[in-house]
Amino acid sequence: MQKAIKLLDNLTINKIAAGEVVEGPQSVVKELIENAIDAGATNIVVEIKEGGQKFIRVTDNGAGIYEEDVAAAFMRHATSKIQYLEDLNAVLTLGFRGEALASIAAVSQIQMVTKPRDQLHGISIDMVAGNITNKKQVGCPDGTTIIIKNLFFNTPARLKFMKTPQSDTTKIGEIMSRLALSQPHIAFKYINNNNIMFTTSGANHLDQTILSILDKELFKSLIPIKAEKQDMALEGYISQPTYVRGNRNYEIVFVNGRYIKSKFLYRSIEEAYKEKLPINKFPVCILNLKIHPSFIDINVHPTKTEIKFHKEEVVYDLIYHSISSSLVKSTLVPKLLLQN
Ligand code: ADP
Ligand code: MG
Repeated sequence: MQKAIKLLDNLTINKIAAGEVVEGPQSVVKELIENAIDAGATNIVVEIKEGGQKFIRVTDNGAGIYEEDVAAAFMRHATSKIQYLEDLNAVLTLGFRGEALASIAAVSQIQMVTKPRDQLHGISIDMVAGNITNKKQVGCPDGTTIIIKNLFFNTPARLKFMKTPQSDTTKIGEIMSRLALSQPHIAFKYINNNNIMFTTSGANHLDQTILSILDKELFKSLIPIKAEKQDMALEGYISQPTYVRGNRNYEIVFVNGRYIKSKFLYRSIEEAYKEKLPINKFPVCILNLKIHPSFIDINVHPTKTEIKFHKEEVVYDLIYHSISSSLVKSTLVPKLLLQN
């Protein structure tokens, strides 16, 4: 016999949603940093322990959250970033779905301390599996510090499929690098098990940020890219064909500051390098595409790393032609002259 249909309770809904938004500790790190970026932070410190499985702390000096909004920040579909779906045509924030904090809170233990600049005191809040266990006023610096402990402690099925701390550390390292590269005007510090992995200056020089995070050889081989076409602007650096990597992980394209994974973007890059690279070797590109938000649809997947372009061919041409012409130029003109 069929059972009666019942509405799921909030915690169950959030735990189910966490399955989509929170793939592992790396997604927690990504969501928390994106919130710090959206809050206008100029300084972000990320500390993880044991691959983030036991401990993740993100500290920012951004806008902070007002006392009356603190509980709402952890509610599902609660966001300060959009009000209607149409707002997405103008939105430039990384978040807008209002589900990250609710999903993370449902499957972890959280401590948050937050203070907007114009407030005399901040708020400290503790949560266990989405329930507030403590909330009080505290003295604290401007901005937000959020600590996530014991991810998936109340979802045994997820816990069983946790990867090793090493493999999660690798994923977090990649996400940290991309986020820091996407925001050269923000000073990042990334600490893993008490070791400082990298710091960036926040001085808004992408080449210096690349040097802080990646290697010196790459820095020496960088070729600048700058191009515009039909309300789109492309800027960044690519590597000389003599500098190669064994995978695509550093074919990085940010669209309006958001890291996007897309086969067609990889194709536009790799076609431009065609015949200049050995087989199964890949270039490094760190490119920033600025495009009017109404020309893209980012609401394709909860993790927002997929995108739909309304004018895919124009984007392809812009990337392909600017890379191929810069590669030709760089072999004709010594690199030092190009930079002046
Ligand atoms: P979204 O980012 O999609 O709005 P989240 O669940 O990630 O959803 O965050 C909910 C809300 O909490 C945000 O809209 C924002 O108002 C607030 N918030 C979260 N993190 C921060 C932060 N580090 N600084 C200031 N506000 C924050
Ligand atoms: Mg968010």
